Amino acid sequence: MKKKYVYEFKEGSAKMKFLLGGKGSNLCEMTRLGFPVPQGFVISTDACNVYSRTGKFPQGMEKQVWSSLKNLEKKNRKKLGDPNDPLLVSVRSGAAFSMPGMMDTVLNLGLNESSVQGLIKQTQNPRFAYDSYRRFIQMFGDVVLKVDGAKFEHALSELKKKKGVKLDTELDEDDLKTLIKTFKRLVKKETGTDFPSNPKEQLKKAIVAVFESWNNPRANVYRRANNIPDDLGTAVNIQTMVFGNKGNDSATGVAFTRDPSTGAKKVYGEYLVNAQGEDVVSGARTPQPISKLKKQMPKIYKELENLMKKLEKHYKDMQDIEFTIEQGKLYMLQTRNGKRTAQAALKIAVDMVKERLLTRKQAIGRIDPNALDQLLHPRLDPASKYEVLVKGLPASPGAATGKVVFDADRAEELGRNGEKVILTRWETTPDDIHGVIVAQGILTSHGGMTSHAAVVARGMGKPCICGAEDIKIDLGNRIFKTNSTIVKEGDIVTIDGGSGEVILGRVPLISPSIGPDFKKLLAWADGLRKLKVRTNADTPEDARKAREFGAQGIGLCRTEHMFMAEDRLPYVREMILAETDEERKVALDKLLPVQRSDFEGIFKAMRGLPVNIRLLDPPLHEFLPNYCDLNVDLVKMQYENAPQSKIRQKEILIDKVRTQMEANPMLGLRGCRLGLIYGGIYKMQVRAIFEAACNIASKDSAPIVEVMIPLVAHANELKILREEVIEVVEEILKRRRKRIRYTVGTMIEIPRAAITADKIAEYADFFSFGTNDLTQTTFGFSRDDAEGKFLPNYLERKILADNPFEVLDESGVGKLVELATKLGRKTKPNLKLGVCGEHGGEPRSVKFFHKVGLDYVSCSPYRVPLARLAAAQATLADAEAGAREK
Ligand code: ADP
Ligand code: MG
Ligand code: MG
Repeated sequence: MKKKYVYEFKEGSAKMKFLLGGKGSNLCEMTRLGFPVPQGFVISTDACNVYSRTGKFPQGMEKQVWSSLKNLEKKNRKKLGDPNDPLLVSVRSGAAFSMPGMMDTVLNLGLNESSVQGLIKQTQNPRFAYDSYRRFIQMFGDVVLKVDGAKFEHALSELKKKKGVKLDTELDEDDLKTLIKTFKRLVKKETGTDFPSNPKEQLKKAIVAVFESWNNPRANVYRRANNIPDDLGTAVNIQTMVFGNKGNDSATGVAFTRDPSTGAKKVYGEYLVNAQGEDVVSGARTPQPISKLKKQMPKIYKELENLMKKLEKHYKDMQDIEFTIEQGKLYMLQTRNGKRTAQAALKIAVDMVKERLLTRKQAIGRIDPNALDQLLHPRLDPASKYEVLVKGLPASPGAATGKVVFDADRAEELGRNGEKVILTRWETTPDDIHGVIVAQGILTSHGGMTSHAAVVARGMGKPCICGAEDIKIDLGNRIFKTNSTIVKEGDIVTIDGGSGEVILGRVPLISPSIGPDFKKLLAWADGLRKLKVRTNADTPEDARKAREFGAQGIGLCRTEHMFMAEDRLPYVREMILAETDEERKVALDKLLPVQRSDFEGIFKAMRGLPVNIRLLDPPLHEFLPNYCDLNVDLVKMQYENAPQSKIRQKEILIDKVRTQMEANPMLGLRGCRLGLIYGGIYKMQVRAIFEAACNIASKDSAPIVEVMIPLVAHANELKILREEVIEVVEEILKRRRKRIRYTVGTMIEIPRAAITADKIAEYADFFSFGTNDLTQTTFGFSRDDAEGKFLPNYLERKILADNPFEVLDESGVGKLVELATKLGRKTKPNLKLGVCGEHGGEPRSVKFFHKVGLDYVSCSPYRVPLARLAAAQATLADAEAGAREK
């Protein structure tokens, strides 16, 4: 049997989305439902794929097209190109996933010098006929023949200027005839050939253009950005034209079955009387709100409303439709699931459960967890009015207001005084981190979505705009300039990291909250999910916020920030630079009480829930002054003839800092190695943790403590450190006569640890997969270098499908997680397993962690709700996979 490439509308259905594209399959479905759809046929995506491979139509396709065309002509009792009563068609692209703007549609195909006469005969309306013809030449010329569309527009406006009119509709029949001649001349000049007059040739050329549009650069970029596979192909829809531009009893419009921005249950849309196709969205004329149609054409409105209701019931989702009214008769031209804001998505899903259109599970499955991000950050108050100064890349969502500052030191200084600042730099580097920590938001004039600033800001949940190229920073004068304005250091700006907008001055913000619909959906999700969700939090504030968002404990409390804080750093430095154990102990003793009070705050915020604390991880040099800065200082001192003793002191410091320097700090003296070499540090930390726990413990509630040893590669490292930890803990508990539930475990973040997890599990009560470092060590990439230097290129060339620091690399890093899980549980069946890396809040990765059978994921506070939903969706996916197997 010959392969079938062409399907008439009555032969297809919504289930055939991949073969017939979204638009085509839905036109088929509406035909099946008996809706008024102008008839037509669809050329399958298979045909497109053959064309992409071979540059030719597949065998048999053309014959099927002509035979379907013949049927269409019969149905309409009109013939393509007929000089008495011509059939006109539209040629529309349509892939399985909607790709707006990929290719423009060609309307009115089939017109030429003789068929336009037929159209006049039938309509008695020469102006309409010539207008349709000139529109056809314009669209076909642009889309199919690739003549620059602006040249047609230019010719059109020249003519209007000459005639002294403003609107297209003010041109008369003769003007349009002239315009047609001009357009044809233009085509000849630009392409070297005459505008094709044979309708079948027109149709063939249009089909080729749609097929080829699948591989145009725009489409490729769109697919990459939206994770749409390249091998889906587009279908071609060939459909009988209906005309909304036949007079005042004709119209065209678009509508949603619910409000796409709020989700409110009411028809929402716009239309234009006496208009065709894209006129509604083109902005040339102002469309009417759909409510007006109710008064203007009540019967039609009723019918439309009715059809929309039916569509929603049928698709069980909010629909976005296109319709046209031709001389008092309604036609449906398109339906699809409508795009919506996160807020609307939640409302619609919850409402549809109430309306019994959806089950709770279906509602949970409907929401894209990533979209909820919008709702979980401070936002600009939508009620306020403001003017945008410049726009950059929306690198990390949320809005913030503060004073512009141009360097990290100044930011820190102001931040310490409780001032709100926006750190504004050309780009940020790891050296700016102290400024980033205190800043309300980050603004850079360079760098992209994976630049240092973007990555760090997202990690911290801070608003960030990158690559705002219109900002010219003049560091010398402490100002930045835009085309219109000069902004001085200290001036107030507001940034919206979700939109990339920078605004001069203060804009009122509204704080994130979980509304009633959101709450309800999350409650349903909680009832379904198996994975627990914890948070990464280093401060009581973060812990509280996360708890509000539903975190079930802390999965990672980093202790290094406690060391970085202003009032501790001198002691930390003293400790690092100590010559003797005595000296070191003195410094550590000063750190003990401050750390203890940090932990007390966190335990209080997390009362009743487990808190996982990681002992010190980063290399010590991170706490020391910068080596280059010190040398600059030294030279300055020498130049200024500073006292010899001072210079000597400086030199000693420089010497000490140099001894701490490492060729590759990431692989150097850090993590548990630090704990083994400088035993006192971990002991002090454990003491601080458990004294705090004892101070907080009451009769009926005591902190649940998990002590985590970082960067273990060999079981023996953990063996020693575990014994040391337990010794200190037991001594404290005995002395204080308290009972504290605690466990000791490790991070799995080095491949060797994953591979030998059965051995490591002998000394661990839990594993926490540090997937950030595990990704670095598995790939041998350092994240900052990778994202700054070669990862964008890797993604561009599809060497990697995703940034492995954002989406877990399942086949590599994931395999190690899986292996370590199996080995670990073999040794200890009740080993507790979790993830504390940014991946813990990324929906696709969460699905994977669920599949592997981990106990929990942990992520930044703002991602906790997303993770709750993603975990529930992972459970749903299980059930679906189970059903498929049966
Ligand atoms: P897009 O995917 O860009 O929306 P469409 O294929 O839906 O492109 O078509 C563009 C415009 O042309 C829409 O307004 C659509 O309603 C209109 N249109 C398409 N086919 C026809 C037709 N057969 N009759 C009348 N209008 C049509
Ligand atoms: Mg459309
Ligand atoms: Mg690590």
